[in-house]
Amino acid sequence: MGGFFAAALKNDCMFDLFFGTDYHSHLGTRRAGMAVFGKEGFDRSIHNIENSPFRTKFESEMKEMHGNLGIGCISDYEPQPLIVRSHHGTYAITTVGKINNTDALAAKIVGTGTHFLEMSGGNINATELVAALINQKDHLIEGIRYAQEEIDGSMTILVLTPAGIYAARDRLGRTPVIIGRKGDGYCASFEAFAYQNLGYATERELGPGEIVVMTPEAVTTLVNPRREMKICTFLWVYYGYPSSFYEGVSVEEMRYRCGASMAKRDGYDGENADIVAGVPDSGTAHAIGYANASGIPFSRPFIKYTPTWPRSFMPTIQEKRNLIARMKLLPVHELIDGKRILLIDDSIVRGTQLRETTEFLYQSGAGEVHVRPACPPILFGCKYINFSRSTSEMELIARRIIREEEGEDVEREVLTDYANPDSDRYHEMLERIRKQLGFTTLSFNRLDDMLDAVGIGRDRLCTYCWDGKE
Ligand code: SF4
Repeated sequence: MGGFFAAALKNDCMFDLFFGTDYHSHLGTRRAGMAVFGKEGFDRSIHNIENSPFRTKFESEMKEMHGNLGIGCISDYEPQPLIVRSHHGTYAITTVGKINNTDALAAKIVGTGTHFLEMSGGNINATELVAALINQKDHLIEGIRYAQEEIDGSMTILVLTPAGIYAARDRLGRTPVIIGRKGDGYCASFEAFAYQNLGYATERELGPGEIVVMTPEAVTTLVNPRREMKICTFLWVYYGYPSSFYEGVSVEEMRYRCGASMAKRDGYDGENADIVAGVPDSGTAHAIGYANASGIPFSRPFIKYTPTWPRSFMPTIQEKRNLIARMKLLPVHELIDGKRILLIDDSIVRGTQLRETTEFLYQSGAGEVHVRPACPPILFGCKYINFSRSTSEMELIARRIIREEEGEDVEREVLTDYANPDSDRYHEMLERIRKQLGFTTLSFNRLDDMLDAVGIGRDRLCTYCWDGKE
């Protein structure tokens, strides 16, 4: 996915920009960058952060770059921010989102005599494509709106100009933009917690499709928010950092409620488990919620080795991801031996890691492993925010099982039936997943319970990956 931070201050913003961007490191693993504008004009730096964290890579920039307006990003895909010289003047741009119609948009733009420079791995840099769309219009705001309307997918955009920073939340608010305020200016952030230790207080969250311009003096709305919203539910379930909130709802508290609703559906006995454990770190809060509601003690039968894995570094090659995931986890045999463990993770995507974790628990002496994912089976690949863990639908374990049962071409109604937790197909699918992954029992959180755990109204939440509803 990716995250961003922007600051518009009366004084130099580099300190805030450096730490504010660094606080988004859980949202991306590939590239990071910062761009500033000050007395000496624009300055920009981009680094590969695949093997080294943001702070290490950008230490020297923190001292060398200067300016009072700045944008920074952590990116799972293309290098950014980009600096663009256009009829709008020079600006820096960073984006978070997904473009599904890249080829059609690129063909349209190339047809106007424009070319693309920033190819990454043979593909057009998505942020450059957004800039090219913006440059199709006479006015910057008109261009930002045009880009958001033309893109099939979702796009949140930050544009840094000498006159201020334009922040445009995607049209359906799939990802957040939150404004913080302190004595000498403002910030705009994906994650709310990113600015709290930097002295900002929350000013407000932008609405879906809202566009503002941020200067050290004010944040002014240029395009009013739309009513309709489809914010990503996965932000609460998995993506968001526990200390964050979206639409005023705490991530950590939502996860407790998810755990509590699963305990309730289990009749609070959790198959009479001896302990409740979360897969670190994504299942921990859900597990605390389950343990608190059921009275079954929360325990940590395996611990993540953080001294040399200080961040959630994940290589992009699948075999290495699994190996690294295994190397990070260390068992506490005394807590596993002979125990009936109720194990919670945020979700099951491919199933490989949870199968290996379960095998590792059995090898370490566990008697039973009851698995409770905190969200329903994922049936559809994300079309909106580049949900990095499900690149292809057929990699999803639920879809693989459905293919085994129904063949290649599955009708939509059949998939809808598989998404219904009260259908026979759903229960057959669960049983096959359980057997393939070697769990003692398996029960997923229900969609209605998960949406209630967010509590902002079901029609305001994106549920596409679970029910395919657009
Ligand atoms: S499809 Fe899933 S991951 Fe993508 S925006 Fe919707 S809820 Fe989030």
